[in-house]
Amino acid sequence: MSTETLSFQAEVSRLLDIVAHALYSEKEVFLRELISNAADACDKHRYLSLTEPETAGPAATYAVTLSVDEEAKTLTISDNGIGMSRQELIDNLGTIANSGTGKFVANLTGDAKKDLSLIGQFGVGFYSSFMVADKVTVLSRRAGEATAHAWESDGRGSFQISEASRDIHGTDITLHLKAEATEFLHEYRLENVVRRYADHVALPVKLGDKTLNDASALWAKSKSEVSEEQLQGFYTHLSHDTEAPFATIQIRAEGTLEYSALLFAPKTRPFDLFDPDRKHGVKLYVRRVFITDEAKELLPGYLRFVKGVVDSADLPLNVSRELLQASPLMGKIRSGLVKKILGEIGKKADSEDYTAFWEAFGPVLKEGLYEDFENRETLLKLARFRTTNGDGWTSLADYVTRMKEGQEAIYVASGDDLAALRSSPQLEGFKAKGVEVLLLTDPIDEFWLPSVPAFENKQFKSVTRGAASDLDKISGGEEKPVEDTGNLSDVIAAIKLALGTKVKDVRPSKRLTDSACCLVADEGDMDLRFERLMRQHKR
Ligand code: ADP
Ligand code: MG
Repeated sequence: MSTETLSFQAEVSRLLDIVAHALYSEKEVFLRELISNAADACDKHRYLSLTEPETAGPAATYAVTLSVDEEAKTLTISDNGIGMSRQELIDNLGTIANSGTGKFVANLTGDAKKDLSLIGQFGVGFYSSFMVADKVTVLSRRAGEATAHAWESDGRGSFQISEASRDIHGTDITLHLKAEATEFLHEYRLENVVRRYADHVALPVKLGDKTLNDASALWAKSKSEVSEEQLQGFYTHLSHDTEAPFATIQIRAEGTLEYSALLFAPKTRPFDLFDPDRKHGVKLYVRRVFITDEAKELLPGYLRFVKGVVDSADLPLNVSRELLQASPLMGKIRSGLVKKILGEIGKKADSEDYTAFWEAFGPVLKEGLYEDFENRETLLKLARFRTTNGDGWTSLADYVTRMKEGQEAIYVASGDDLAALRSSPQLEGFKAKGVEVLLLTDPIDEFWLPSVPAFENKQFKSVTRGAASDLDKISGGEEKPVEDTGNLSDVIAAIKLALGTKVKDVRPSKRLTDSACCLVADEGDMDLRFERLMRQHKR
């Protein structure tokens, strides 16, 4: 049998030179790349057996099998997928077939350090084998062909191809491990990497008879195929939370945009919800291969408590973080996810659990009121508030039904402490007329209020800001006219004199029923609490 020696495309040689000498700390990604290629090859065979059964033969029981030879120091990754013909071996493993790899090469600077960091960003597919191996052999038989071929290379400029034999279609990739990479001969190390990167590859990844991964992509299944226990198991696996989630969101988008998602909204607040370094909760998969858990673009910050998996069929597997950020696909997936998540939360807004959920995550969801214009209305409907009407929480819709005749605005009072707020003199006039006031105690309230004009055309208006004149227009309660017994203007003049420029004005007021005086802001001026917050920040 003849062996032919062929040269790598010049770019590949350059690439391999970098990869082979890489002191790259995340060498283990080679296994992710090879498993994902193997899984792709199985998917392709599965498809071929449907479309060209006479070539492919029947669909097989697909698996990716790892085997080690400790003496020879080799690790082999085998699959029973579609395999490669001689020409495909030459084209795929001798040139730059992969767009991620192509971008990597295009971005090479010649500075070894910088170039190395690019590997992590772009991924270099099959060629990443040479990070851990000084020789790689590939034995492959293409479905529908009688002969197999062996491809072999030490990654230095050229590769050899010869005829060989293999029982069935599929590929074996054998890595002759470098001395510093023999950790990949150990079962626990392999299992660890497989669980990390390929747990949800939907086919079994085996070491001998043992299946290392979960092998079931729950998110790709329809709702009826997934049991409560499986969902809970998956949620616990993702979140380390053993409690049931508040809401489970399953999405299968088809059509122009194809993705599936399995997401969970927890019941209780994680300890680091407000930690800016907190990890994002959603993992991105592309065709069931784990890509990253740092795709911050997938969900807006105000949904950072959501855990789960999003699996896109449209993104390239070697998508870099930079590319993710720039990809219009991400924006589209994101807006679909947000709508669905808010929708599911909304469905539970009348349930008993909702109050606890809102108490845990309301302050975060309210960030969306000023960040996410598109979903503001939905968020306003989800929002719950403490009010002067009882001790519970109320929705804005319910507040509106209780508005008094002649009342046009939604009145709000804000402060740091609920109890102090309830007894604030600024509320006296409103209480006297039976006008309900929302009591806002989250710091975030000061930020969304100025940017949210209204709910159902009813403006939000702070009780500390010139709203007293509104009270005249609202009917109900007993009127307590300001009685000028003759010396009121003298008293006001004396107070003005005493306070000087510390206040803008001193006015008689109808809003007070019991207290002697209170501080208010003029219409158009900064709300008192906001002003206080701003002053604290300047210090
Ligand atoms: P990518 O997977 O992004 O295309 P890779 O460098 O990982 O880039 O692989 C290059 C190509 O080699 C693949 O597109 C595929 O055609 C082929 N290939 C690699 N591994 C296998 C395999 N196990 N079975 C069949 N084809 C494979
Ligand atoms: Mg690949």
